[in-house]
Amino acid sequence: MTEIAPGRMIGILGDGQLGRMMAIAAAEMGYKTHIFGQDRHGPASQVCTKMTVAEYDDKAALEKFAKSVEAVTLEFENIPTKTVDFLEKMVPVRPGRKVLEIAQDRHIEKSFINSLGVPTAPFANVESLSELGDAIERIGTPSILKTRKFGYDGKGQFKITSATQIDEAWSEIGEQPAILEGFVPFELEISVLVARGVNGDIEAYTPVENRHKNHILDISLAPANILTSVSNHACDLAKKIAEQLDLVGLIAVEMFVANDGDVLVNEIAPRPHNSGHWTIEACLTSQFKQSIRAAAGLPLGSAKHHSNAVMRNLIGDDINHWQDILNHPEMSLHLYGKKEARVGRKMGHVTRLFPLDTMPKV
Ligand code: AMP
Repeated sequence: MTEIAPGRMIGILGDGQLGRMMAIAAAEMGYKTHIFGQDRHGPASQVCTKMTVAEYDDKAALEKFAKSVEAVTLEFENIPTKTVDFLEKMVPVRPGRKVLEIAQDRHIEKSFINSLGVPTAPFANVESLSELGDAIERIGTPSILKTRKFGYDGKGQFKITSATQIDEAWSEIGEQPAILEGFVPFELEISVLVARGVNGDIEAYTPVENRHKNHILDISLAPANILTSVSNHACDLAKKIAEQLDLVGLIAVEMFVANDGDVLVNEIAPRPHNSGHWTIEACLTSQFKQSIRAAAGLPLGSAKHHSNAVMRNLIGDDINHWQDILNHPEMSLHLYGKKEARVGRKMGHVTRLFPLDTMPKV
């Protein structure tokens, strides 16, 4: 194993809050960071050692970036695979192309997950209005039409409750390749974060419950209030996915838990995840440090939590409550340095710890 020694530079693709928290973790561990992104004043630009502002197809900029770093990691999965191919000729990219290719397309993603024997909601590929008609016949309603690519926080999705909505649904998602997914009447939504190192060592964080508001993550409760058997099963599924992807880095696996305890995988994100922010205060190794360890080829740290935690996102105007939050000495406030508090924009988060085996009623 070639370990990248502290003092060297790690490259991060993406300049948002995840890149910011990765760069902060890297700095704590003695690494320098070089951010490659498009926003000169983005959250990560304020805390990194070096920043390149360029598009992902700017080969000259990519080459210079690759030559300045020992390894590259990323804060979002929609980096063009061509960019990764280009970089991989010069420097290790962790996670690599195969993982991104799968995570960028819902059809490829769900087919891959099913091929491992891991269940998802039933789904059908939809490339045209007439294929949507066939899919509705097969999957039934209620169901959700989701664009194959670039969907997040409920964007690019349309819930179909009756076959009469077919034209509206197809037009709403922009008449582009999609999947139709059966609606899962879940009891709760959880996510499992798994880190995997270059040696194949693997660490799973305890599953957390995620609650959404307007399709955006509102709070994460760690650990999720589920039976130990369900929790172990969810961790096993997430580890299996990480192993079969041959992942080096982090992956968040979002899942639905049905009321009979059945677990279905919804989607994967091969990077630090919003539902893992609680790990900064509550775990022996935060998700951000873990991502840097994996990228640098270091052994992983323990994912064990020493406290329970509730993490709440500060969306849009929520950031105006920063003083109230600071008046609670037990709350940890994280702000991302974004200038404008637009509706639906993640501006920061707050974490509160609780003793193990206790959890507030939220
Ligand atoms: P996604 O972009 O796939 O993560 O979906 C966003 C949110 O929509 C999820 O967190 C769920 O709350 C809901 N959702 C997505 N797919 C389904 C489904 N098949 N059944 C029920 N709810 C879903």
